[in-house]
Amino acid sequence: MAAADVAPGLVWFRDDLRVSDHPALHAAATSGAPLVLLYVLDDSGIAARRLGAASRWWLHLSLQALGASLEKRGARLVLRTGRAEEVVPAVLRETGARHLYLNRRYAVGERRQDEEVGAAAEGARVAVHLFTGSLLHEPGEVHTGEGEPFAVFTPFFRALTRQGEPRSPYPAPSQLHGADMPVRSERLDDLGLLPVSPDWAGGLRETWTAGEKGAHRRLEEFVHDRLPRYAEERDLPAAEASSRLSPHLKFGELSPYQVWHRVRRSEASGAVKEKFLTELGWREFDYDLLATHAHLDTENVHRGFDRFPWADPADARIRAWQRGRTGIPLVDAGMRQLWHTGWMHNRVRMVTASFLIKNLRLDWRIGEQWFWDTLVDADPANNAAQWQWVAGSGADAAPFFRIVNPVTQATKFDPTGEYIRRWVPELRGRSGKALHEPWTSGEDLLGQADGGGKPYPPPIVDLKHSRAEALEAFERMRR
Ligand SMILES: Cc1cc2nc3c(=O)[nH]c(=O)nc-3n(C[C@H](O)[C@H](O)[C@H](O)COP(=O)(O)OP(=O)(O)OC[C@H]3O[C@@H](n4cnc5c(N)ncnc54)[C@H](O)[C@@H]3O)c2cc1C
Repeated sequence: MAAADVAPGLVWFRDDLRVSDHPALHAAATSGAPLVLLYVLDDSGIAARRLGAASRWWLHLSLQALGASLEKRGARLVLRTGRAEEVVPAVLRETGARHLYLNRRYAVGERRQDEEVGAAAEGARVAVHLFTGSLLHEPGEVHTGEGEPFAVFTPFFRALTRQGEPRSPYPAPSQLHGADMPVRSERLDDLGLLPVSPDWAGGLRETWTAGEKGAHRRLEEFVHDRLPRYAEERDLPAAEASSRLSPHLKFGELSPYQVWHRVRRSEASGAVKEKFLTELGWREFDYDLLATHAHLDTENVHRGFDRFPWADPADARIRAWQRGRTGIPLVDAGMRQLWHTGWMHNRVRMVTASFLIKNLRLDWRIGEQWFWDTLVDADPANNAAQWQWVAGSGADAAPFFRIVNPVTQATKFDPTGEYIRRWVPELRGRSGKALHEPWTSGEDLLGQADGGGKPYPPPIVDLKHSRAEALEAFERMRR
C-alpha cells in the first residue's frame, strides 16, 4: 500500500500538552502512520468538571504553544468542543483513523469516559493504545501487603520508591507526519478561554510563561537557583525557594518523569533531592485517592465529617477571605497573592485554608471551589485532597483539633514580614508585632489606606474565641 493510503492514527491530547516524554505521541509517531492530533474542550461530558477561570486562561496559552510546536514538526492540532465521549468517536469516523493513542487519566469519571471511547473505538475496529504519562505509577499498583490502597503517605511513598527508579523520559519526535486531509478545527480564539471584560489576567501574564518551553525554562531555573536551598527554605513564602512547577505539571507541559530525572541528575545534596521528590510523591498519593473517590471534591473521605456543624454558607465573611480583607495579615497576603498571580505558596495555602475551615468554620468545599476557580494549578486530585487534608476529613489528614494560629505561623515562617509587606501594602511601614498583629498596636489602622484607598480592616474574627468554637463544634460532631 502506498504511504498516502495508510489509515491515520489519532492522538488525543488531554492533561499532557507537550511533545517530549509523551508516550502516546511517541508511539504514534514511530508507527509511521499519518497523524491526526486532537484536543477536545469538554465542559459537559461524563469526565468534566468545568475548568476554573485561571485554568482556562492557562489552557489557552498552553494550547497555543502546543499548536505551534506541533506545526513546527509538521502536524496540526485539531480543536473541538463538546462531550469527549461523543466527539472522539466522531473524529475517528470522519478521519477513518484505525489507531487511537492516549495517555491515561485517573479520576473515576475520566476512566469511565475512556472506557466509553474505547468501547466505541473497538466497535469500529480501531485499536486503542493507552499509556502512563502523567503519573509515576498507576493507581492501584502501589498497595499494602493486603492489597489495599495505603491510607498513610509515608509507607505509600516508601513502597513507590521500592519499585525502583521511574523509566527515562521519551524524546520529542523531531518530525511528525500530519495526515494530509482536511479535518475541521475550531479556532483557539473562538473557544472563549481568555477573560475579556474585565481582563483580570495582567498579574498572571506578569508571573507565568505557559507552555512546554516555559515549563522547561522554569525547571532549569529551579534546579540551578532554588533547589540547593529548597529543603531549608521551602516553607518560607518570601524566599521563593519552591519550584512553581505545579501549573506546568497540572497541564502536563512537563511530565513527572522529566522532573524526577532532572532533579536526580542535579548537583544538589541527596537530602535536598529526597525532600523535593517526596513532594512529588504527594501528587502521586493524591491521585491514588482521586482514583478511588469519585467525588473527592464534594464528599468527605471520612464520612463522619458529614455531620460537622458548619457556619451559614451565606456568611459575608467568605468575601472578606476571598479578597484578602480578613484583617489577619498572613491570610490576606496569601489570598491577594492568589488573586494577583493565580498561585499561592504551600505553607500559606495551609494557613488560609485552616483559617476558612476552623476560624470561620466554613465548609472546606467553599474554599476548594474558590481555589479551583483562581489557581492556575487547580488540580482535581491535589486541590480536593489537600483541602480535605487541612479539614481533617481526608486521607492521612492533619487532625481537625490541630488548629494552626495564623499569627504564630507568620512569626515563624515570615519573621521579617517581607512576604506580608509585599502583598499587603497598607502594612508596609510596619514590622514585628505591629505587622503580625496590627490590631494590638493601638495605631490608627483607618489612616493606613492601600493604593485603592481602603483602610486595612480590623480582624473579622477573634482567633482565640473562634478556635475554641471550632473545637467545640468538632466535639459535637463526634458525639
Ligand atoms: C489547601 C491546599 C490546596 C492545594 N491545591 C493544589 C492544587 O490545586 N494543585 C496543586 O498542584 N497543588 C495544590 N496544593 C499543594 C501545594 O500547595 C502545591 O502543589 C505547591 O504549592 C505548588 O508549588 P510548587 O510547584 O512550587 O511546589 P514544590 O514544593 O516545588 O513541589 C513540586 C511539585 O510537587 C507537588 N506537590 C508539592 N506539594 C504538594 C502537596 N502538598 N500535595 C500534592 N502535591 C504537591 C506539586 O506537583 C508541585 O508542583 C494545595 C495545597 C493546599 C494546602
